[in-house]
Amino acid sequence: MSFKITVDLGLCQGYAACLIESPALFDIDDDTEKAVVLGGPEHDESMRQQAEAAMRACPARAITIEDA
Ligand code: SF4
Repeated sequence: MSFKITVDLGLCQGYAACLIESPALFDIDDDTEKAVVLGGPEHDESMRQQAEAAMRACPARAITIEDA
């Protein structure tokens, strides 16, 4: 099983809460100051807890997770 992470860049305010919560999955693009998902949108199930923690931490509710 794997899952897919999406960041709504229209909602993302660059707060970096996702990066603090889950540095293995998120970074902030220096140019756009928006979140990027490291390694592309699709990730192995072993990363799901980290992804969900980042999703909960995002003040803008910009992160969504769905089964791939
Ligand atoms: S926590 Fe949310 S608003 Fe902040 S950078 Fe991450 S995705 Fe964007």
